[in-house]
Amino acid sequence: MIVVMKRGASEDQVQHVVDRVEEFGLKAHVIFGTERTVVAAVGEKRDEHRQSLESCLGVAEVVPILAPYKVASIEVKPERTIVRVGPFSAGNCYLGIIAGPCSVESEEQTLATARAVKAAGATALRGGAFKPRTSPYSFQGLKEQGLRILAAAREETGLPVVTEVLAAADVPLVADYADCLQIGARNMQNYRLLEEAGATGKPVLLKRGPSATMEELLLAAEYVLNTGNQNVMLCERGIRTFEAHTRYTLPLATVPYLHEKTHLPVIVDPSHGTGHTHLVPRMAAAAVAAGADGLMLEVHPNPEKAQSDGYQSLNFQQFAETMELCRRVADAVGKILTPLEPGETARALQTY
Ligand code: PEP
Ligand code: MN
Repeated sequence: MIVVMKRGASEDQVQHVVDRVEEFGLKAHVIFGTERTVVAAVGEKRDEHRQSLESCLGVAEVVPILAPYKVASIEVKPERTIVRVGPFSAGNCYLGIIAGPCSVESEEQTLATARAVKAAGATALRGGAFKPRTSPYSFQGLKEQGLRILAAAREETGLPVVTEVLAAADVPLVADYADCLQIGARNMQNYRLLEEAGATGKPVLLKRGPSATMEELLLAAEYVLNTGNQNVMLCERGIRTFEAHTRYTLPLATVPYLHEKTHLPVIVDPSHGTGHTHLVPRMAAAAVAAGADGLMLEVHPNPEKAQSDGYQSLNFQQFAETMELCRRVADAVGKILTPLEPGETARALQTY
């Protein structure tokens, strides 16, 4: 249930509600909105809890949360969450661009890519150091050495690093280097991993499993949110269908649908979603038109020689052209690529 505080309720009154919620054995999540503060009380609720909370000072009303996902639900927080990491902002009117190689292969390859994507307007660097490969004989990633290379690229360019963590046991190591932890599609429902990643307090990019429903994706996000970490981004990366002309099928209705259900930013990955370089620029632009809060794009200095996913990677020139196209679409739909400055209050999203 949601305990909606009165406008102007004091900090002590909010804290008292939190204490009461915890006494009932429920988990309290305090969400400060521009309009009102709410305390989401998550767990098994009883009628007497509701009545007791209704009589606390400073409480306007107590309402049930109807969606099965609680903290992720727009019922709890009507204002959109903006995930911010250094120069990267995603959510509301902010469009974050995460670009870089599928896999970190060498310092030279990663640094060259980081410089090129930054110059073209990316606001975060991606790169896999731990790779989830379908075959155990395929390149598995440079692991810690890859993380060190990503950190060097951040050092030089200032771009925050988004990188995948494959297993709960690797979370401390990856979190030492990463600015944002990516949970891959294959791991969307690895609940221990979600909890460990959430507990680091670092932003989490959660990719949709190729056969997961929207509700399963939101409930997976709920595992991260339930650790108290509110910086979760959802990522549509394509689902498995009967269709074979693309590697996956990229459903862009996901974006407006999720925006109706959740306040969390929605990122689209047209690289995995299509699996073909030549389809990526248009689908990236289409994602922006659909209202996406960010894009994840694979970029490689020489896609032909990539150790993974070269067939869906953009070269530097193609990435710059894609950014140009996306910038024009972003302008048309009221999204901006410039990040939110520290201390700056978020601009409102123009509805269209
Ligand atoms: C990736 O981003 O390189 C990746 C492996 O993605 P996914 O988990 O969506 O397959
Ligand atoms: Mn990839």
